[in-house]
Amino acid sequence: CGIVGYIGNNDSKEILLKGLEKLEYRGYDSAGIAVKNESGIHVFKEKGRIADLREIVDLDVKANIGIGHTRWATHGVPSKVNSHPHQSTSGRFTLVHNGVIENYDLLKREYLTNVPFRSETDTEVVVQLIELFVNEGLEVIESFRKTLTLLHGSYAIALLDEQNNETIYVAKNKSPLLVGLGSDFNVVASDAMAMLQVTNQYLELMDKEIVLVTKDEVTIQNLQGDIISRKPYTAELDA
Ligand code: GLU
Repeated sequence: CGIVGYIGNNDSKEILLKGLEKLEYRGYDSAGIAVKNESGIHVFKEKGRIADLREIVDLDVKANIGIGHTRWATHGVPSKVNSHPHQSTSGRFTLVHNGVIENYDLLKREYLTNVPFRSETDTEVVVQLIELFVNEGLEVIESFRKTLTLLHGSYAIALLDEQNNETIYVAKNKSPLLVGLGSDFNVVASDAMAMLQVTNQYLELMDKEIVLVTKDEVTIQNLQGDIISRKPYTAELDA
């Protein structure tokens, strides 16, 4: 299972799909991407191979922001509806997740009894909580932070906000996730191998950090909101 993301000036679809192919070795049962352009967020997902996903991706949709996922099902059978990305009820938030949210059922009963769930995944709780707290008045970053503090378990997360054309929100805890640096673009990946096609400069992320990735900037902060500075390293794997 794995995660990729791209934000820059180029079309993201092929970069994401190639990245997911590089992560196939990790094992998966479904795959999906969400790409964002002026007309909104477009989700393509399918049970099965990346090759099956490629069949349904609309090549006419050009978008220079996107996230992708390969799923190894832990909660909910492998199916199209349980595959990632998952969206909040209004469609504003779109999210991919690797890992297991151990307290998802509790969170659902405590906060989300009025929310209609589409999937059987633990993951959907995360995207619905983010929307809930935004609806209650929090800024997106504050809602993301509050949601993360409620989660028990493991996660690597990449999140898109329909109303923000500049940012991929990222966080991890006990699941791998890196940010790759380019000129005029940045990427996200579970493993540097996925994005060696576009960069060999990577920032390691620590558990429970929140990262805002734009095409020109990467801002890392801890759960208290303190900004963290970190130097990139050069990945020296064979692409
Ligand atoms: N627990 C999530 C699910 O079952 C994510 C699994 C994964 O890491 O791919 O959908």
